[in-house]
Amino acid sequence: MNLELSEEQEAVRQLAKDFVARDVAPYAVEWDRSENVDKSIVKKLGALGFLGLTVPEEYGGSGGDHLAYCLVTEELGRGDSSVRGIVSVSLGLVAKTIAAWGDEEQKRHWLPRLTSGDAVGCFGLTEPGTGSDAGSLTTRAVRDGADYVINGSKMFITNGTWADVVLLFARTNDTPGHKGVSAFLVPADAPGLTRRTIHGKLGLRGQATAELVLEDVRVPATALMGPEGKGFSIAMSALAKGRMSVAAGCVGIAQAALDAAVGYAGEREQFGRPIAGYQLVQELISDISVDVEAARLLTWSVADLVDRGQDFATAASRAKLFASEAAVRAANNALQVFGGYGYIDEYPVGKLLRDARVMTLYEGTSQIQKLIIGRALTGVSAF
Ligand SMILES: Cc1cc2nc3c(=O)[nH]c(=O)nc-3n(C[C@H](O)[C@H](O)[C@H](O)COP(=O)(O)OP(=O)(O)OC[C@H]3O[C@@H](n4cnc5c(N)ncnc54)[C@H](O)[C@@H]3O)c2cc1C
Repeated sequence: MNLELSEEQEAVRQLAKDFVARDVAPYAVEWDRSENVDKSIVKKLGALGFLGLTVPEEYGGSGGDHLAYCLVTEELGRGDSSVRGIVSVSLGLVAKTIAAWGDEEQKRHWLPRLTSGDAVGCFGLTEPGTGSDAGSLTTRAVRDGADYVINGSKMFITNGTWADVVLLFARTNDTPGHKGVSAFLVPADAPGLTRRTIHGKLGLRGQATAELVLEDVRVPATALMGPEGKGFSIAMSALAKGRMSVAAGCVGIAQAALDAAVGYAGEREQFGRPIAGYQLVQELISDISVDVEAARLLTWSVADLVDRGQDFATAASRAKLFASEAAVRAANNALQVFGGYGYIDEYPVGKLLRDARVMTLYEGTSQIQKLIIGRALTGVSAF
């Protein structure tokens, strides 16, 4: 087994590192405080090809394999999880899903826009009343001649107020549970679609998270993506790869926590010498490094399975479960190394911990990942 990166993979990782150092890291604290990432970042991400990774070049994508995608995602997460999330959603959950499930017209219409950064995508699955139990969603799409008319609401939608297209999941028949769900590509400027920014998040403050309300939103039947009633499978296939991307972002958080902890421990002196010399501080740093390396290996193993065309869904749940919990632990351990200074936002570790915290919640909570893994191992579903 060879874990050495190829020249192309090293090059794309370096490109991402340079981009983060120049265009992300210097602004991350300001974006966090103002609850507003500068939207011009999207065009920059597109220009570097980061919004087109793994998407075929004929649709404007930049190609590359899933390990390259994870390397870029890790570096973005190391710099600012709010920026990482833009890519994980617009590319990971929306563009890649259109590439996999869209018809030719949908691919030609949306993919070049999304991969260039001319358009942003968001993923509308969660509703106020249905999160973990997404298959019970209640947003309705009713066929009316050549159109569908959609009514309902969506909660916690990343990129929600920035998006040009919503990959929206709605019920098209009365079959209870996930069998009645279909997927639609809804232009965000469709009359009847309103968006409200959700303020006051614990972390990912710079990211545009929104509630969407749909009142008699009329879309042509060509907005349906994939067969009617297949929407839940489409959502789950998107989330399986999405979990790999979240895991990679979490590796970035944990790596940033390690960098910060090592740097501070070498500078901060107590009892007449750097705190790095105390064994209990070294234990904190050592624990962070184990989390970084284990999370990275789990994440890379998912990318490897995807690139070799193997089943990866359970491995993606395992990686997301471990990496998200590891990112929280790592950021918390780093905060401990910083002492009281870790608790104020002039230092980076408080933000890392706040940003990490949502990773065990979205794209399936840690409990849901355990149920997915348990189902795969026992053959018995707890859902
Ligand atoms: C910042 C942010 C961004 C998000 N972005 C998006 C997005 O872009 N698109 C989107 O569609 N959604 C998004 N979400 C929604 C996210 O995916 C949901 O919050 C998540 O799936 C959990 O749903 P819930 O919040 O309704 O919690 P619930 O489902 O109400 O869960 C509450 C608690 O109950 C536990 N629980 C639930 N069912 C079970 C069970 N069967 N067994 C054991 N424990 C269980 C959960 O693990 C959790 O601890 C985002 C959320 C946040 C906070």
